[in-house]
Amino acid sequence: MKVIKFGGSSVADAGQIKKVKGIIELDDTRRVVVVSAPGKRYKEDTKVTDLLIELGMALQAGVMKEDVYKTILDRFRSMTEELDLSISVMESVKEQIDNAVQMIQEGHSHGLDSLKACGEDGSARIISAYLEKSGLSASYVNPKDAGILVRDEPGGAIVLEESFDRLYELRSRNEILVIPGFFGFTPEGEIVTFSRGGSDITGSIVAAGLKAELYENFTDVDSVFCVNPMYVDKPKPLTSLTYREMRELSYAGFSVFHDEALIPAFKAKIPVCIKNTNNPSAPGTMIVAELPERESHVVGIASDDGFLNLYVSKYLMNREIGFGRKLLQILEDEEVSFEHAPSGIDDMSVVIREHHLPPEKEEVVVNRIKEELKVDTVLIEREMAMIMIVGEGMNQTVGIASQAASAFREAGVNIEMINQGSSEVAMMFGVKSSGLSDALQSLYHTFFE
Ligand code: ASP
Repeated sequence: MKVIKFGGSSVADAGQIKKVKGIIELDDTRRVVVVSAPGKRYKEDTKVTDLLIELGMALQAGVMKEDVYKTILDRFRSMTEELDLSISVMESVKEQIDNAVQMIQEGHSHGLDSLKACGEDGSARIISAYLEKSGLSASYVNPKDAGILVRDEPGGAIVLEESFDRLYELRSRNEILVIPGFFGFTPEGEIVTFSRGGSDITGSIVAAGLKAELYENFTDVDSVFCVNPMYVDKPKPLTSLTYREMRELSYAGFSVFHDEALIPAFKAKIPVCIKNTNNPSAPGTMIVAELPERESHVVGIASDDGFLNLYVSKYLMNREIGFGRKLLQILEDEEVSFEHAPSGIDDMSVVIREHHLPPEKEEVVVNRIKEELKVDTVLIEREMAMIMIVGEGMNQTVGIASQAASAFREAGVNIEMINQGSSEVAMMFGVKSSGLSDALQSLYHTFFE
């Protein structure tokens, strides 16, 4: 049996939902369906999840944004009407939304997550009703009944181990099960959502729990590309990748698949296939545990913008036992997570996503570093980008760093930072955001053309 997940653009309107039904019908081993909230129908459109967040934040500030509330209901209503579903479906969608609105108004700690979850929940109710109406045997299954238990971290849920055994019990149900993605329940029964884009995580958890033969992840691109198509025109598609490669790539800006979604599938050894709802016959990209050796050791170049570098220098830092720990302790105290921390003899850099260190926190962190660590210099460089060159087997190949360095030179982009040792399948380069596009084009040219 296969677990099949549809992303936001695949369920954005009634027309897309009809395609979803067609894809499910094509293969009767597609038994468990995980769905996202309705996404964008066109470029300027707004995702339902973004609308729900806007509504929820305003409610937390005591304001009821009637227009946003109405837009959300209209999105769902137009689907139920176009799909000609019974009125009770829309009523159940509205009931969930109204309950969550009330929870926020009453100051409930999990109100916002409950409202955010309504996008996926509505999609799943509508899709299961539509499948049933079309003559398929299908049911909506709430994540609570499916057994998806998570840690109580609103907006950042982490699955609890016992979920997997509970999910396995769904195998005995002889019908198509439609499960909303993006959220689970705490053991106390509260809704908690995963991080943004987290329906991929649900799909992976469900596939692992059910010991599926394949986890198919349907989105709106034919495959994963070796570099972000935003920077390079028609980059090469990737037909296969290992889990480790995909994890590195999706961490650094490959938005096709959530970077946390691979672990459950990986642990349960379930292959993942990324496919396109709008072109389902394209082969897509397969992600598996191991691949035979390939001709080129570099399979992809990932990149992400919006980083900062916290640079600290202190004479004789290398002789001061515990310096690194003390520096990171300050970040921990201030609840700032970091991404990389390369260090030298008298210097240490900590790479942080810019939004994790807003200016008010920056001041506190910088002052504490100066006072408590008695450093010589502390500097923050914003507008940094990270580039990852990814490929299994790269660490044993001579000359990759030199080829990459030449590509940066040809692009006239200065490398601010290099970090290689920590990952066996990736090499990281830090550059100024302004040089990102040129650097990527030059790297693509070097490794793929
Ligand atoms: N709807 C959620 C989001 O927009 C989760 C998802 O689509 O995967 O973040």
